[in-house]
Amino acid sequence: MKENNYDVVIIGAGVSGMTSAIYLKHSGLNCLLIEGETPGGQVTKTITITNYPGFKSITGAELATKMLTQVKELEVEILYQKVANVKLDQNMKIIVLDDNREIVAKNLIIATGRTPRKLGLSKEEKLTGRGVSYCATCDGALFKGEEVVVIGGGDTALEEAIYLSSLCKKVTLIHRREEFRAKSYLQDELKYIDNIEVITNANVTELIETDGKLSHIRINKENEIENIPATGCFIFIGYIPQTDHFSYLGITNEEGFIPTNANMETNIKGIYAVGDVREKEICQIVTAASDGAIAAIHLSKSLIES
Ligand code: NAP
Repeated sequence: MKENNYDVVIIGAGVSGMTSAIYLKHSGLNCLLIEGETPGGQVTKTITITNYPGFKSITGAELATKMLTQVKELEVEILYQKVANVKLDQNMKIIVLDDNREIVAKNLIIATGRTPRKLGLSKEEKLTGRGVSYCATCDGALFKGEEVVVIGGGDTALEEAIYLSSLCKKVTLIHRREEFRAKSYLQDELKYIDNIEVITNANVTELIETDGKLSHIRINKENEIENIPATGCFIFIGYIPQTDHFSYLGITNEEGFIPTNANMETNIKGIYAVGDVREKEICQIVTAASDGAIAAIHLSKSLIES
């Protein structure tokens, strides 16, 4: 059964999706925001945010709640349901829900985000926010003057290790192979920073807690076991875009992210992608909000002109 006919359906009520909803509602458009889990997305997993303008310090959960309250006060229609699939019917977008209902929209904004790849260690989830982090920009300041480890050998791991070295007493970068995937200029930069130690050919085997917080990590380097003191463990081993349901549309790149133009349009007319699901380098709360605003404004203008 096909339901309703919306100007715009937004999938994902994270920062970018909620920002799009606010702008679209201000433009008087008939929009529906679909969320499969908890509104707020990745931001709700950040303990303290100190880089979102207007808030000197705010918890991720609090910021997400404030955004959701704003969306609700604007009377944006919100549907809590998982999306199973998206189909095209001429110019219309058919959003198939996991209970087989179908929603029809002229335009679609995909704001489903990405999740950091996990190491898969037994205490990883329990210690997230208690030493384990996936965002140095968000959480680095909490480890000022302390000893931390960074896991990974790509651009993100090296960039974040360099950033953390300016805040922390010592940064130990641990990579599972000898060669780094990261760009050579980042590898060169590492060599000139005194408080970064690099350990290669090593795997993290255990996160060790003391009084409910991370205190050490255990590594296996070529069959030698070592415990490294660390109050922070920053894991940067790649990200997984939440685009499985859209892959058949042909809008994703090899890694599953969605390339867009500067207006956030994908290669299909009327389908936009915003926030961390988009192919881009910088993923911050403020850039997610920016993407959401740009897509909504562009879309509103196109609907008025058509
Ligand atoms: P990435 O390039 O995919 O690197 C992931 C790193 O994590 C690799 O070193 C990989 O090791 C390691 N890894 C993966 N799974 C692991 C596991 N289970 N245990 C231990 N290590 C594991 O990810 P990224 O650094 O987040 O970068 C993502 C993309 O964004 C890349 O295309 C990157 O170039 C781009 N980016 C660009 C910039 C920039 O240009 N300034 C900045 C950030 C990101 P192996 O090498 O052994 O596979």
